[in-house]
Parts: sequence; structure tokens; C-alpha cells
Amino acid sequence: MNRNIETKCLHLEDDENNCNHYGAISYPIYQTATYAHPAVGKSTGYDYSRLQNPTREHLERVIASLENGISAFALSSGMAAISMMMEIFKPDDHIIADSDLYGGSIRLFRNVSEKNGLKFSNIDCCRDNIENFINANTKAIYIETPTNPMMNVTDIAHAAEIAKRHGLLLIVDNTFMSPYFQNPLDLGADIVVHSGTKYLSGHNDTLAGFLITNREDISEKLSFLIKTTGAGLAPFDSWLVLRGIKTLGIRMEKSQENAIKIAEWLKKQKSVTRVIYPGLPDHPGFEIMKKQARGFGSMLTFQLISKEFALSVLEKVRMIKFAESLGGVETLITYPTTQTHADVPEEIRLKNGITESTLRLSVGIENIDDLIYELEKVFSETERELNG
Ligand SMILES: *Cc1c(COP(=O)(O)O)cnc(C)c1O
Repeated sequence: MNRNIETKCLHLEDDENNCNHYGAISYPIYQTATYAHPAVGKSTGYDYSRLQNPTREHLERVIASLENGISAFALSSGMAAISMMMEIFKPDDHIIADSDLYGGSIRLFRNVSEKNGLKFSNIDCCRDNIENFINANTKAIYIETPTNPMMNVTDIAHAAEIAKRHGLLLIVDNTFMSPYFQNPLDLGADIVVHSGTKYLSGHNDTLAGFLITNREDISEKLSFLIKTTGAGLAPFDSWLVLRGIKTLGIRMEKSQENAIKIAEWLKKQKSVTRVIYPGLPDHPGFEIMKKQARGFGSMLTFQLISKEFALSVLEKVRMIKFAESLGGVETLITYPTTQTHADVPEEIRLKNGITESTLRLSVGIENIDDLIYELEKVFSETERELNG
């Protein structure tokens, strides 16, 4: 029987009855840069930690297993992973990218990849017809679903079908859903990207990034690139992510449960003009989410009656932290305009709907009553101040 995902977070299938490492239940941290060779022309399988390290390799096997890939690569951050992946392309290659991506990905494409001769079409992958943008040099489609921060949902299987028909790669940044809720490779994607800083590590205490593929040819290229460009994840950070993954299932379930309740609470507030959460039946991506994911996640975006209201919420929160990032056990609130999406040109930001009254919540695992209590307090104080 194929194991379920909660179990795969704890046990690798092929490690059964394996009492290596003195039977240690927590995988050891191999804090070493290099390895002794038993003889000339012989190797333990490990030569130098930029190429491979047992702790990192163990983490990569766990991640590959969670995303149903043949191989995974662990890098020092999500951006390190995406930057390295862009090296599989060459000048004049054309990539169709969703226009509502993580701000750092947009910055990379515009300022680094374009300088290296890559061309991009930034489109709304959930509304535009992707096929209209394909040209003779198109090599890939790059999406996030749901997108950051506007939570647009793209049908992954449909995008994969277009990619296959035209011989393109489909690359999916799966950070928002984590492998617990969504597995793009199973739906036809070729490469999955993760910021491991978020749900996978889950404790707001380390940076990490992953690339996962189920194609031998891509795996070989990425293997060459990680060894050559050198941003592989350090052993201690690999261990932190391994520890975080053990509780991925219960964290995802609990934070999603909280997110649904907060979305419902926000919908009832007169100062809130829009709540964007793909788990609400009125979200345009709700049905696609039900088809391609096992949950809706715990990211939600909402818009307030004014910029002043939004800024006041950010000033007043205490337990909920005004901070960038997401996917950790602590609830964080973000102002995309000046934080995650500050480097996205204003016209693109506004076109995507990221107004100055837009806030994004990454819901954590606190008791829901305490979260609602804080939000109620912040909202009522703000209402009183702005009206009085
Ligand atoms: C945070 C994030 C990234 C970048 O990851 P880092 O670990 O911060 O480098 C990429 N994509 C998405 C969707 C993210 O949320």
C-alpha cells in the first residue's frame, strides 16, 4: 500500500528495518565539509559537501517522496532554488510566467534573467488563454497556484496539457499549498519549486528552497547545477527542515481550520470590502481547488475600506506579528505594497489588484479564540479612531 502523506512526513518507505546511524530516530547532522577516501579511486559515496552531504541527501529523499518526484534538490533559500533552475535556460528562450507571482520571483526574472537574455510574457494564467502567448522560442510555463497574494487559482492539469502539446516545461511554485495539500507532478508538472522557509520548515527559523522533478533529464541538469553553482542547503539547516516536516500534517490541518474561521469572521466585518480565500465557495477557484488539491491552505488576503484602516491594523496588532514571510506556526500579517511586492512596478501591482488597502494573513496554529479576540480588538479600536 502507498503510504499516506502524514506518514511519509515521518518515514521513508525504503528505510524500513534500517538501523544505520546507531538507530538514531532523528537523522544525524553530518556537519562536515569533506570526506576521507578509503583508497585511491574509492569513495564512501561522499566527496565534498557542496556536491552531497548525508543530512541534505536524507532531506532531499523525504521531499522527493512527499512530492512524488524521482529527485529533489535542497538549496539555501527559495530564491536560490529558482535562480539555479533558471540556468537550465539559454539566451532568447521565452517563458510564460503568471503576472501575480511572489515578488522576489518577479524581481529575479526582470532584473537577472532578462539581463541573461531570457524573454518573459507575464500573463494572467487563470484568465488569459496561455496558448495565445506561445511562440517558437517558448520553453516553459511558470505558475504559482494559488498566487501570492491575490490567490488566483490555475488549473494545473490544464496548463500541463498545453505544455505537453507544445513541448514546454511546466514549472509550479507549490509553496502556498505545500506537498501536504497539492502535488503538481501528479497533475503533469515537470518541476516543482518550494520555498522551504515556509510550510515545510514551518517554524520561521530557517531559510530553504527545493526543486523536485520526475524527469531523468532535468534531474541530471539540476544535479550538475547544484554541484557547480554551490547553493546547496547546509547540514544543520537541512536538519531543521527535516524536523519541521515531521509535523507538516498537523500544522497544515490546524492552520487551515483557523484560516477558514478567520475568513468567515472577516466576511462579516463592515470595514472589510473583500476576502480572498480559495476555501470560500464564492472564490472563483473553489471548484478547481477541490479538484486538484486536498485542502485550501491557510493563506488569505483581504481588503479594507481605506489605506488608513489597513495601516492602523498593522500598527495595532501585537500577538499577530507584522512581518514578511508565511507558513510558520505563528500568525503573520503582511502589507504586500511595501513588503513582499515592493519591487513589483506599481502598474503591475495595481493591475493585479494589490491595492494600498490590501493585507495578507498567514494564519498560524494559535487558539482561534485568541486570534479572533485580537482581530476584534484591533478592528474596533481602528473603527473608533477613524470615525472619531
Ligand atoms: C517566500 C517565497 C519564495 C522565495 O523563497 P525564500 O525562501 O524567501 O527565498 C518563492 N515563492 C514563494 C511563493 C514564496 O512565498
